Order: sequence, then structure tokens, then C-alpha cells
Amino acid sequence: MIYDVAVVGAGPAGLAAGLYAARAKLSTVILEKMFPGGQAALTHHIENYPGFSEGVNGLELANAMKKQVEKFGAEFINGDVERIEKTDDLFNIFMKAESIKAKTVILAAGAQPRKLGVKGEEEFIGRGISYCATCDGAFYKDKPIAMVGGGDSAIQEALYLTRFASTIYVIHRRNELRATKILQDRAFNSEKIKFVWDSVVNEIKGKDAVEEIVVENVKTGKLDSIPVDGVFVAIGYTPITDFVKDLVELDEEGYIITDEHMATKTPGLFAAGDIRQKPLRQVVTAVADGAIAAVEAGKFLENN
Ligand code: NAP
Repeated sequence: MIYDVAVVGAGPAGLAAGLYAARAKLSTVILEKMFPGGQAALTHHIENYPGFSEGVNGLELANAMKKQVEKFGAEFINGDVERIEKTDDLFNIFMKAESIKAKTVILAAGAQPRKLGVKGEEEFIGRGISYCATCDGAFYKDKPIAMVGGGDSAIQEALYLTRFASTIYVIHRRNELRATKILQDRAFNSEKIKFVWDSVVNEIKGKDAVEEIVVENVKTGKLDSIPVDGVFVAIGYTPITDFVKDLVELDEEGYIITDEHMATKTPGLFAAGDIRQKPLRQVVTAVADGAIAAVEAGKFLENN
């Protein structure tokens, strides 16, 4: 079978692309390595996606999106894409156990959490280090924890963690948050959130699990130890592009460069969502990218 459209990734961008492609009667397959929804599915409460005045749980939104895509007949394959090659106007998409062929491909593999790269981080992953507050927050009931980062993710997740932890130390490398004002205000008003400004984590220490972090003030060089049971890291994301880097142009941060039609430098290959260079990474912009990419893939098929 040769698909008209293969979508790599089933986050909001991939699901929206799948919806538009399948609804346009293109034979469509969506390849996903874990679960639908991507990063959005790990967000407990999304309150800026239009249509949900009370906000919506990320996993529920993802499941609803998947159901809608399935209704229009898109196929889902569980698989981790390792490599994509283009020969004779066809894309060969290689996963671990199988490969498929498609006339067009929409890259919507998103991004993965960036790591701190400090001593103790790898050692304590799953034993006190986490990149997902929604997944692991409940383990820290009445315990002190740290959240590293100052963006929307760090502050939104720190706020979520106030329902479990006794204290949340937000460790931020500057003295000003990057997060949007409404989240900042909520965090400043929380009694459980304490800010450790101008500071970076130098080391994570413990015996069997995390027990303390060593924090350095970047202005004074002073080192402090903070006893915590858990460390949540939310310092941004790295796009997942290794499997396709020969077919696309990347910016200096590794994001795929597209034009406004979501087209990459390879004809028939499109990119949508967090994987591409863009000014705003949100669910609402991801689904918009996905829709555009699918419509453009349809036009490409008509013209070729
Ligand atoms: P982000 O906006 O890139 O913020 C990353 C934060 O981590 C920044 O505060 C940055 O510090 C800090 N940081 C980066 N590298 C670091 C390092 N090596 N050591 C210490 N700190 C480091 O990432 P994000 O918060 O994950 O958000 C990603 C995108 O998703 C953004 O576009 C965001 O708006 C969006 N998002 C939106 C919502 C929402 O709308 N509610 C929720 C979550 C995410 P500096 O500030 O000094 O650069």
C-alpha cells in the first residue's frame, strides 16, 4: 500500500493534519511512538485552547482529537520512525519493525524536554528527577521539591504542583520570569512557591533517591544546598529531527525551517507544530499548522 499522506507524530499538529487529510479523502496514516497528544497530553489543564471556557485536560483533548480523526478513516500505526528516504517521488519511512511508503509526509514529531546536563541528573531520573509534573506530581505529597526554569511550562507546572508539595522552589537563572503575566501573578500569590533568582542547579545529590540540590548564584558565585525530595525540570524543548535531518533545513536550534505553506526544502515533505521554526508554540498554533500542511499536501498530490 502507498499512502497519500503519512503523518509522523500524533500530537495536536499531527492529529489536525490527519483530520484534514482523511476528511479530504486522502489515504492517511499517522505514525506515533507512544500515545496521542504529545506534550499537550501531559498538560493537566489547558485553558487557552478556544472553545473550553473552563479549560480542558490535555489527555481528554487529545483523545477527542484522535476519535475525530478515526471517524474520517485515518489509520494509526504504533512505531518509532528511525529514518525517512525519498526515492523516485516516494517516501520510504523506516520504523524499527516495519517500513511504509507514502507520496507525501507531514513531520509533526514535536520536541522533547531539554535536560539540565548536570551531575546526578541521569542517575536520578525516575528517582526524584522528572520532566512531567502531571505524571509525577502526586509522588510528592507534603514534600519539598524544586522546579527548574522560568517559562510557561515551569510556572504552570509549579502551580499544578502546589496541590501536592509542601514547598516548591522555582530555580531560575535570571531575576525575571519568561512566563506569561497571568501565570506569573498566580505564582507570586502562591504561598507554597518560593523563588530562587539568578541561580542554576550545579548538582543533584542523594543516596537512593534525590535528597538535595546544589544551587549556584550566577551573580555572586555563592553555592547553596536546598533539601528537596524531587526536582522537576522545565527548561524548554529540543525538536525531534534526527530521523529526517538530511531532507530538511534546520535553524541553529534544530527546528525545521518551512515556508508559510509548511513546506520544507524537499518537495512533498511538510512540517507542522513544535518541530518547526515559529514564533509561538501552543496547541492552537500546532493544529493550525497541521491543517495547512494537510491542505498543502493535497495540493501537491493534485499537481504531481
Ligand atoms: P521556554 O519558553 O523556552 O522557557 C524555558 C525556560 O527555561 C526559560 O525561563 C529559560 O531561561 C530556562 N532555561 C533554558 N535553558 C536553561 C538552562 N540550561 N538552565 C536553566 N534554565 C534554562 O520553554 P517552555 O516554558 O517549556 O515553553 C515552551 C513553549 O510552550 C513556549 O512557547 C511556551 O509559551 C509554550 N507553553 C505555553 C503554555 C501556556 O500557554 N499555558 C504552557 C506551557 C508551554 P531564560 O528565561 O533565561 O531564557
